[in-house]
Amino acid sequence: MYTLNICHLYPDLLNLYGDRGNIIALRKRAEWRGINVNVTNLSLGDQFTPEAYDIVFLGGGQDYEQEILQEDVLVRKGSFIREAIEQDKIFLCICGGYQLLGKYYKTWEGKQINYLGALNLWTTGGRKRMIGNTVYELDFLKSDSCDGKIVGFENHSGRTYLGPEVKPLGKVIKGYGNNGEDLSEGAMYKNVFCSYSHGSLLPKNPTFTDYLITLALKQKYSDFVSLFKLDDELENLAHDTIIKRVAGKY
Ligand code: GLN
Repeated sequence: MYTLNICHLYPDLLNLYGDRGNIIALRKRAEWRGINVNVTNLSLGDQFTPEAYDIVFLGGGQDYEQEILQEDVLVRKGSFIREAIEQDKIFLCICGGYQLLGKYYKTWEGKQINYLGALNLWTTGGRKRMIGNTVYELDFLKSDSCDGKIVGFENHSGRTYLGPEVKPLGKVIKGYGNNGEDLSEGAMYKNVFCSYSHGSLLPKNPTFTDYLITLALKQKYSDFVSLFKLDDELENLAHDTIIKRVAGKY
């Protein structure tokens, strides 16, 4: 029997707009295929040992929470996180969790919070918050049965910019994405997937959830080939309804 070990970092501080739903989606869609799932919550003061986990999740938080955990993430967990990323560990990071993998977050009041620099990206706060439902397109999800479109909900003042080694996760069809300027949404580097989408991201986008589970199982088990299909009628209905409502014709 296959087992997936998921680590939820700072679940008590970084969990906006139901970000925990991403963990639930990973767990349920794996368990429905008979895969065993363990979830470990780690927060301030806890030691992070990346080799114990197959997927690491970081949700979103306000500037306030991001400041509270700054020292812990830099001093206690930082070197482990950076090393795990370089060794191809799978990370899913949303909004505030995404920002803290970058070099810094400068609030709109001008206060700079230095972060991990695990990915070459940086964030600057603006006065106007970027709020609303989003639709964007992920090229790597496209197949005969999937158009690669993802739906989510964003609420951030931070504008994120990517350095050359970091690719956008997707292309904005509706919404602001990384900065409201260049149509990029989120970031990808090695096996790190970052997005501004709360809402939660994975329950509304089962194809992306299965992509992450498949990646983790292939990385862990040499005999794993693919996940069998589930009946996703309701998930797809939710997904398609939001696309129609938010993006209309495009
Ligand atoms: N504090 C960050 C911002 O406003 C992140 C917010 C969030 O995680 N939703 O940009």
